[in-house]
Amino acid sequence: MQKQRYERPIIRKYESNMPNKFGMKSDYPPMPYIDNVPVPELLKDYGSPVFVISEKTIRSKYRNALKAFTTRYPKVQFAWSYKTNYLGAVCRIYHQEGSWAEVVSGFEYDKAIENGVEGKKIIFNGPDKTDEDLRKAILNESLIHIDHLDELYSIIRLAEETDIKPRVAIRVNMDTGVYPMWDRFGFNYENGQAWEALNKIMHNDKLELVGLHTHIGTYMMTAKAYEVAAYKMADLAIGLKEKYQHEIKYIDMGGGFASGNTLKGAYLPASDTNPTFDDYAEAITTPLLNSSFDKDNMPLLILETGRALIDEAGYLLGTVIANKRLSDGRRNTIVDVGVNLLFTSFWYDHKISPAKKQTQYTEETVVYGPLCMNIDVIRENVNLPLMNKGDHFVIHGVGAYNMTQWMQFITLRPKIVMIDEEGLVHVVREHETLEQLTQLEKVPDHLKEINIK
Ligand SMILES: *Cc1c(COP(=O)(O)O)cnc(C)c1O
Repeated sequence: MQKQRYERPIIRKYESNMPNKFGMKSDYPPMPYIDNVPVPELLKDYGSPVFVISEKTIRSKYRNALKAFTTRYPKVQFAWSYKTNYLGAVCRIYHQEGSWAEVVSGFEYDKAIENGVEGKKIIFNGPDKTDEDLRKAILNESLIHIDHLDELYSIIRLAEETDIKPRVAIRVNMDTGVYPMWDRFGFNYENGQAWEALNKIMHNDKLELVGLHTHIGTYMMTAKAYEVAAYKMADLAIGLKEKYQHEIKYIDMGGGFASGNTLKGAYLPASDTNPTFDDYAEAITTPLLNSSFDKDNMPLLILETGRALIDEAGYLLGTVIANKRLSDGRRNTIVDVGVNLLFTSFWYDHKISPAKKQTQYTEETVVYGPLCMNIDVIRENVNLPLMNKGDHFVIHGVGAYNMTQWMQFITLRPKIVMIDEEGLVHVVREHETLEQLTQLEKVPDHLKEINIK
């Protein structure tokens, strides 16, 4: 008979949801499968750590979001926010579902073209568009969302070089009652900047004003802010109609819906506090329907939702490296996932589930990554059952921003796999190699030889 593992005895009130003097119940039940694929198998086949994306979840989330809007408004179009996750496989799922592309750099623009998105269905946002980027976007008849007057003047200058009328919109920022206000992008509504830009565009016959854009913030925990924003956007659109008899084709309300992740230090879980797609859709569509647009000529409503669509479709699987005690007695579990891969751990309390059923006893644990850096903390404080060296776990809600903001630091970046709707697993990004990284480096001749005596 195998010797049983010793477990520190603790007294604990049986199953209580409220905190008691022994703490909370285990935060998270085990997660042995992702879309019916066993977690240990994924780790065995693709290495540890590994990112796992669920195609099924991406598609179902997207369809839910779309339905929330199409049941309330006649013309709706989503555009996938590339910077949220620009893996080719991920973008193509959204494009297959009908999403356009929303990009914020020349690199992302080229990526959208490479993914097969027609130029007319690419929305080009952001404060940094080079002349070369703009020329390309003009020639492809993409939707250029102007961020500042310097960009407007560049577009006017470039339009003179071509026979094509650039299709432009302005980005508008505004007070929505949520602070700090995102007023660094685009033109302000309240102080008249937005109208100044619109007037300049309307008085220039080289440009075609096709829409109005705003993106009021990210992880917006109140739908009310969108209602305020939608009223202001509708007001600008109606104003254009009155002043210039000009009808814009679309109103783009941007992204920023909160995902299911809980912010660090939040008292209640996100599921208890955050609006649903229906709440956001109600807030956005009501002002548009209330305004005096022609019933048969409503502007297209564009949404650039990023994190709320993809966060829950991404998992990061890893392995426990070791356990030790901190000087204050708390348990310190070291895992092979660091903040270099999980950028969002600076922001969220990511849910962590053991891959298999563990003991019923839990303990407050600090989960550290493998980097030799003090900042490398995955969870500062989480109630977990004891996981031993070699045990596996699943980190939830990692689909947004991690696979774009991750950094190559100390370790090489791992594989990303996708589970398709049939349950087949595909590698969608390979593990990085030393060779790939050193390929980019150049060693000057005088440093080629080293001679340590
Ligand atoms: C980042 C970004 C988005 C996506 O934002 P989420 O908060 O992830 O929904 C949409 N539009 C613009 C202009 C952005 O910069």
